[in-house]
Amino acid sequence: MNLTYTDPILDWYETNARDLPWRAPDATPWGILVSEIMLQQTPVVRVLPVWHAWMERWPTPSALAAEPSGEAVRAWGRLGYPRRALRLHESARAITERHGGQVPSAHEDLLALPGIGAYTAAAVASFAFRQRHAVLDTNVRRVLARLLTGDEYPPKTQTKAEIRLAESLLPLDPPTAARWAVAVMELGALVCTARTPRCVDCPVLDKCAWHADGRPAYDGPPRRGQTYAGTDRQCRGRLLSVLREAEGPVEKPALDVVWADPVQRERALDALIADGLIDPLQDGRYALPG
Ligand code: SF4
Repeated sequence: MNLTYTDPILDWYETNARDLPWRAPDATPWGILVSEIMLQQTPVVRVLPVWHAWMERWPTPSALAAEPSGEAVRAWGRLGYPRRALRLHESARAITERHGGQVPSAHEDLLALPGIGAYTAAAVASFAFRQRHAVLDTNVRRVLARLLTGDEYPPKTQTKAEIRLAESLLPLDPPTAARWAVAVMELGALVCTARTPRCVDCPVLDKCAWHADGRPAYDGPPRRGQTYAGTDRQCRGRLLSVLREAEGPVEKPALDVVWADPVQRERALDALIADGLIDPLQDGRYALPG
């Protein structure tokens, strides 16, 4: 454990954590498991309404297991990657058959559920049962890479060295370790974001290896701050801000005026749509995802 990092991040989490229903004191292990699967490839804002609908309809694994798997797919809505709905349904059946309808607390039992990988098993054991596990999602891996190894991004595939590093940081006391796990994840989601980390708001800015090195870009390209102007990233930011500031859907000309180069503008718009950040409406207008 390294208190240098732990305490500032835990203190930051205390005042900055988002109020999310799967973190509430009355959240059930089942609710936490469903949230973890939904959040794997989908932003919180899109998960929230679907998660609430699922919890209302299927408050327990047995309730979901009692329905055909097609109902789970139907209720998945527009979250994307609908195979996740099938995996949850399979897990609900296994929990009902093997564990009397209660989400198991043992890490190995969680790992044995269909479609539950190392990350989800560790996350549920940690968040639902306050156990001590290294919980390494993309947010956590990115924070640790920057903070400790001075790299902007972690390796493409998770390495044993990363796991060892994450384990070495875990507070010894299991409930504190569980809180630390969610705190680092939240720091990655809100401050140490993939493309535009807000280092000035970071509680461990003075300890960050990547920042201390001058935030060198991954694989040697020029520093991000010097190349932002004119990039697709800047273009996407402009387009999205039009929608953020509008009260409803906007016409295409409202987007066209914010970026002169039409080729780059269309490419950025396509990327935003592909990322699910902008919805092209059937009437030709554009909106933030519903
Ligand atoms: S200082 Fe910046 S890069 Fe380093 S951990 Fe904080 S937000 Fe991430």
